[in-house]
Amino acid sequence: MRGADALASPVQYIAGGTTLVDLMKLDVMRPEKLIDINALDHTSLGQIEAGHNGLKLGAMARMADAAEHPMVKRDYPVIAQSLQLAASQQLRNMAALGGNVLQRTRCPYFRDTSYAECNKRNPGSGCAAIDGYNRSHAVLGVSDRCIATYPGDFAQALIALDASMEILGPNDRRTLEFAALHRQPGDAPEVETRLAPGEMIASFLVPAAPWTRRSLYLKIRDRQSYEFALASAAVALDLAGNIVRDVRIALGGVATVPWRAKAAERVLRGKALDEANAQAAAEAAFAEARTFKHNAFKVALGQRTLMRALSEAAAMELPT
Ligand SMILES: Cc1cc2nc3c(=O)[nH]c(=O)nc-3n(C[C@H](O)[C@H](O)[C@H](O)COP(=O)(O)OP(=O)(O)OC[C@H]3O[C@@H](n4cnc5c(N)ncnc54)[C@H](O)[C@@H]3O)c2cc1C
Ligand code: SF4
Repeated sequence: MRGADALASPVQYIAGGTTLVDLMKLDVMRPEKLIDINALDHTSLGQIEAGHNGLKLGAMARMADAAEHPMVKRDYPVIAQSLQLAASQQLRNMAALGGNVLQRTRCPYFRDTSYAECNKRNPGSGCAAIDGYNRSHAVLGVSDRCIATYPGDFAQALIALDASMEILGPNDRRTLEFAALHRQPGDAPEVETRLAPGEMIASFLVPAAPWTRRSLYLKIRDRQSYEFALASAAVALDLAGNIVRDVRIALGGVATVPWRAKAAERVLRGKALDEANAQAAAEAAFAEARTFKHNAFKVALGQRTLMRALSEAAAMELPT
């Protein structure tokens, strides 16, 4: 029996349907009812608003619209890039931001019901990936029960920029830090989020901050389009010359949840952004990595990805 997680509910909202319908065809998700929320496109849930205090992205805004929005591209490039580098143009036209953050792992053993062992799909059954082929799996936030990678890109941009979410429930509304949405697998990999059944994400709120303009998303994958990340880094920098006044870092493709690398941020804050300090930050980011038979390469790849992202962000020419 799963915990109180919206993704376990027999009633599922359907936005673009680009991942839910796939999982239903594979018999991995078996909702009894679907509630089509696409008519909410015409409410504030479909809007993108950029103002002095920050950015508000409606959960029904399409990935393509947010990726191509001029204010998002100028003032929050890490968000635009994380969306632009995800999936394909056709998928981005269909898929909504709320559905994107709730996509489920691409672990092949989770998506193929002919494998009996998958604690996430069938709690208590074991994990076929731990002793199986685990090249795409996580090295951060793993447990003895599950090592599945969180697959999305946009979530790394949100977590790096301290975003929060407005959530509508059957009886009330609440705000939740985006960083609290996804749960690490621990002893209960089947419980993936802190969204209760019936709750709907209404919007994402990204506060304005000195580091949002000098921000970028770097994604490394097996091929250059239409592919999930092997490693990615969302970085946002506030620089005084070469000195890091403040920095925000999140990692993708290497962790079980969107991963904020606070240890790496601490290494850099107040220091010169040179190669030695970037290397030290990259090492701190992966200090607690736990690797498996086929995915040890992700530590070095993740470190190089972060170092390159920091260097490219430092070199950005900011719009006036
Ligand atoms: C071939 C392929 C490649 C892909 N590559 C990438 C990639 O590189 N990077 C990446 O990030 N993604 C990638 N994706 C995933 C894609 O981005 C997602 O399928 C898409 O973002 C999901 O959005 P949707 O609106 O279609 O969600 P849906 O399929 O409609 O819904 C997904 C889940 O979210 C729930 N939900 C939807 N909206 C809400 C809401 N407002 N409140 C509460 N619950 C809600 C639904 O009930 C469901 O459980 C890829 C997908 C495919 C098929
Ligand atoms: S890594 Fe997680 S999702 Fe994949 S088989 Fe193991 S328990 Fe299932």
